[in-house]
Amino acid sequence: MYAHQGSILHVDLTEDKIWKEPLPEEWRKLYVGSRGINARLLWDYCKDPDITWDDPRNVIIYAPGAVTGTTAPASGRTSVTTVGCTTGLYLKSNMGGHWGAELKFAGYDHIVVHGEAERPSYIEINDDHVDIHEDTDLWGKDVLETDTYLKKKHGYDSKGLYIGPAGEKLVRGASIMGSCYHAAGRGGGAAVMGVKNLKAISVKGTKPIRVKDPKRFAEVAKEMRELLIEDSGAQGLHEHGTAGSMAGVNELHALPGKNWQTGHTENVYPITGQAVTEQGYLKRRVACFGCTIGCHRYSEIDEGPHAGIASGGPEYETLGALGNGPGLVDTEAVLILNEICNRLGLDTITAGTVVQWAIESYERGVLTKEDTDGLELGWGKLEETKEAIIKMAERDGSLGNLMGDGLKIATEQVGQESYKWAIMNSKGLEQSNVETRSAKAYALAFAVNPRGNDHLMTETFAEFGASPEAVEVIEKITGDKKYATPHSTEKRAEIVRWHEDCYEITEALGFCVFTSTAAFGVNPDNMARLYEAATGIEMDEETLMRTGRRVVTLEKAFNVTRGATRKHDDLPYRLMHEGAASGPLKGETNNPEELAKMLDRYYTLHEWDLKTSWPYRSTYEKLQLDDVADYLERFGRLPEE
Ligand code: SF4
Repeated sequence: MYAHQGSILHVDLTEDKIWKEPLPEEWRKLYVGSRGINARLLWDYCKDPDITWDDPRNVIIYAPGAVTGTTAPASGRTSVTTVGCTTGLYLKSNMGGHWGAELKFAGYDHIVVHGEAERPSYIEINDDHVDIHEDTDLWGKDVLETDTYLKKKHGYDSKGLYIGPAGEKLVRGASIMGSCYHAAGRGGGAAVMGVKNLKAISVKGTKPIRVKDPKRFAEVAKEMRELLIEDSGAQGLHEHGTAGSMAGVNELHALPGKNWQTGHTENVYPITGQAVTEQGYLKRRVACFGCTIGCHRYSEIDEGPHAGIASGGPEYETLGALGNGPGLVDTEAVLILNEICNRLGLDTITAGTVVQWAIESYERGVLTKEDTDGLELGWGKLEETKEAIIKMAERDGSLGNLMGDGLKIATEQVGQESYKWAIMNSKGLEQSNVETRSAKAYALAFAVNPRGNDHLMTETFAEFGASPEAVEVIEKITGDKKYATPHSTEKRAEIVRWHEDCYEITEALGFCVFTSTAAFGVNPDNMARLYEAATGIEMDEETLMRTGRRVVTLEKAFNVTRGATRKHDDLPYRLMHEGAASGPLKGETNNPEELAKMLDRYYTLHEWDLKTSWPYRSTYEKLQLDDVADYLERFGRLPEE
């Protein structure tokens, strides 16, 4: 087989069984790769709504993209798919680094992990040799210790994917980490590994990856690389990482602070990517496998009381959620909290959003000193914030357990209308740091995201029109450049729909989404040509985008089995009902009427029912998902046409 290795590896931890299956050729045409084929596998194994995240029948699936391991630029990403523990719904998370390419070199396109091990275990893969090792020594180790431990055992050329103590303790915001600092962070996939007693997967591989038409493949890959090198967005990402945009976002009064009660801070510089670089904290720029952009960072504090604190990042989201969010506009404060989260395996977005909710709850008297185990929480208090986050990762005491369960469960437990200042939507995921009140396509994309309200299923960055390339994308979708403005609600459904498909195929091929929806060197046309050259499967832009829509619809169907309806497609209460604090859009909300209009148009474009949000039978059939429609019909989950 070309591009793919043609093999799905299954590991059953309950039965201590390992087997391999061929990758069906038909799936490569219908779902292309990683995220798409993962969605199909999750449907096949876990469509029964009785299968919850902690049920041994839940599977967790890992997959590098269709062209991962080749010379295509920035194509080393890995998708992880399971029933999520934060929402109880479909979960896909995605990470960079080098683990995915190594898995391809070992000869596998997907790993499906079934069951639960009786005792702490890890999986070792060395080409055709696959083993499950019971290893209680590994349990309790942090991410760096785990990486070192596995490398000592299996060689420094092996690549590790693992969970930290937060995943072991089933913290719902726990993050799967790979190659030390790369995170499949959102939605609590690490807790699914934790409940399976699966600490890590160590991989080593030596097999080549072949492409069908090497000359044509090299030409398209070169075209992509050159477009990325010229792209202004990609240049900015290389220079200061994702954090390079902090000052610009602050200028727009769109930088959430104090649990989204402010959108602007007076002196933002200390929490910008520029500050991390210029003050000497940045030690090196890091690139994932085959990446020409190299947006990832490695930072360290050299002197003072915190000398020696070092970790990957910090990213925009981390500087927002752990810096401006809890009132810590201080470079070293964020580096300290970032290092703790990375080491303990905790998603920095969820950690920051939950701690802000806890601080506000304490300020309002909804949480008492007894609830916080004596911590006097408050804005701008590093020591207390740090302590709260460590407690969360370790589920230590009342506060640790409350925070460890995430906002959905915490607000139910605490009551007193604390959901009103919890920054999550009805699905229950903590929102990433995009001020959706002033970015309307983002608002719609967040509301309909099947895993909850964040930017990592559909990145609609182009609506800002921040570069000529972004404006061109909006013109291509809507027919007019004038829609490249985040404040308009017009054409947002069209913009979201296009980005959903584009984002999905980007991941399915294994590309970093920064290449197609933040920078724009990779696009549906060159992805189609590259896929055809790589696999020999006939492909054009329209057919490839259609595979994206098929997968998005399948992901939606998965949530339909769990009873998700239109009412789950909303935004956090505060953002729907409280106006932005300052700036050009002072007073602006994501009010329910405005959202309803965008949803109507979005469901119409999808050919989904307006009342329930569920796809019709004819919609499934047009996308060759007839079996999905048949299954849903048994539960009465097909709306009348
Ligand atoms: S752009 Fe950044 S996150 Fe994406 S593949 Fe490159 S280094 Fe990794």
